[in-house]
Amino acid sequence: MIVEDEPAVARGVQVALEQEGYSTAIVGTGEEALKQFADIAPDLILLDVRLPGIDGFEVCRQLRRETRAPVLFLTARADEVDKVVGLEIGADDYLVKPFSVRELVSRIKALLRRAYGELADTQTGRTLRRGELVIDLERRRVTRGTERISLTTTEFDLLRHMAAKPGRVYTRTQLLELVRDYEALEADERTINVHISHIRDKIEPDPAQPRFIKTVRGVGYAFSED
Ligand code: CA
Repeated sequence: MIVEDEPAVARGVQVALEQEGYSTAIVGTGEEALKQFADIAPDLILLDVRLPGIDGFEVCRQLRRETRAPVLFLTARADEVDKVVGLEIGADDYLVKPFSVRELVSRIKALLRRAYGELADTQTGRTLRRGELVIDLERRRVTRGTERISLTTTEFDLLRHMAAKPGRVYTRTQLLELVRDYEALEADERTINVHISHIRDKIEPDPAQPRFIKTVRGVGYAFSED
């Protein structure tokens, strides 16, 4: 959960973390963070100190009554750092803005490892297990049972995005957005149908009766919740 009121910062962090295979949710205020905490159920909280309304310190204090998930503070100024470190509010680490994305990712990995140990890889999204389908996000490798499945870059990215959020329906336009970096500009929504069909041929035991990627009529596709 990214608690940050500057949209550009929040979005930048989100893009970086999603590239690493993490699922993220952005909330713009402390009040929203507290309200949505139970629904989002985050494994880790990135918390900006200066927020409109209640500040990050207060958010952290209140969250600590509900969760032991690691809290990483994002601070803008040295005097805030002193406060983060000095106050007994239950923060686990902090980063001073502006920070590098690489540094952020490495701190997050360390916190998750510390908090969840061996489970960190599977619990927090380094590997997605969906039935017999295993998607290794770090090695960009997919296996079904003992069988290694070879996917193109586009196919892999479509699959990992959908599999990260079972049940979420993606329109063809949204899926196109996810992979447009590698697609020719003239690529259109029909391209997505072709990619999905190729992915199904590779991952589905019976592509005619897809179990993993479902077609949602008139809308798009969703990874199966079952
Ligand atoms: Ca702020």
